[in-house]
Amino acid sequence: MTDKTVLITGSSRGIGRAAALYLAKLGYNIVLHCKSSIKAAEDALLEIINMGRQCRILQFDINDRKRCFDILTNDVQQSGAYYGLVLNAGIVSDTPFPALTDAQWDDVINTNLNGFYNVVKPVLMDMIATRKPGRIVALSSVSGIIGNRGQVNYSASKAAIIGAVKALALELARHKITVNCVAPGLIETDMTKDVGEDFIKSVIPMRRMGKPEEAASLIAYLLSEDAQYITRQVISVNGGLC
Ligand code: NDP
Repeated sequence: MTDKTVLITGSSRGIGRAAALYLAKLGYNIVLHCKSSIKAAEDALLEIINMGRQCRILQFDINDRKRCFDILTNDVQQSGAYYGLVLNAGIVSDTPFPALTDAQWDDVINTNLNGFYNVVKPVLMDMIATRKPGRIVALSSVSGIIGNRGQVNYSASKAAIIGAVKALALELARHKITVNCVAPGLIETDMTKDVGEDFIKSVIPMRRMGKPEEAASLIAYLLSEDAQYITRQVISVNGGLC
């Protein structure tokens, strides 16, 4: 049991939801977040409340800088600074580069990269001002490390997150706030529902996709006190796909 509160963006579904439930089981209070899947977020909220944790939901588009600022500053004013941020909300919009549209480029960069800035900026000074240890974990991807065919936009956004995390980690180390990336391979969520079984068996050494809980347990470890000396790292969870 802890009085630590963690905001997990994109926690209505997939990895974010699994991380929220995993962290709630460990005793953290949870701020859920979604863009449009409010019913799914409410279901997660009920589960977390039933575990005896505090939980609330924030709903906003991480592309919308002003709404991010307004909602997040208000939440921190009402309830206090977060101990942890899990910057998980993200999208793909895959096409071979010659066919990629301006909108596909902009949507993915705005959500996956600008979304990082839009969420971290409004809440960071309050985290620092607590003068207590804190944690930031951002979701990158194997695609951001090695690049992936048909994902020039996505690979660019996820590689940029690694750069942002490594730079921010340097700035925050003296404040005892760690900043790390989790880089999943292929995890079973809505994002990967169209990936075929033959492809999975041919590219992943473990011959299966990961479960959302297998990414969630790594996120939870990086949020733990045991991980207090781990910062500026990119840690993969990928069944050997790299
Ligand atoms: P899902 O598609 O299952 O869920 C995405 C989540 O992000 C949802 O909660 C969604 O909210 C939220 N979201 C998407 N766009 C926005 C937005 N503009 N504003 C606010 N919230 C938004 O994704 P995954 O769980 O699969 O992926 C989570 C993270 O992990 C992503 O950053 C992804 O890039 C990364 N990742 C995933 C991999 C995988 O194999 N699944 C592999 C490598 C990295 P709502 O439900 O309201 O739409």
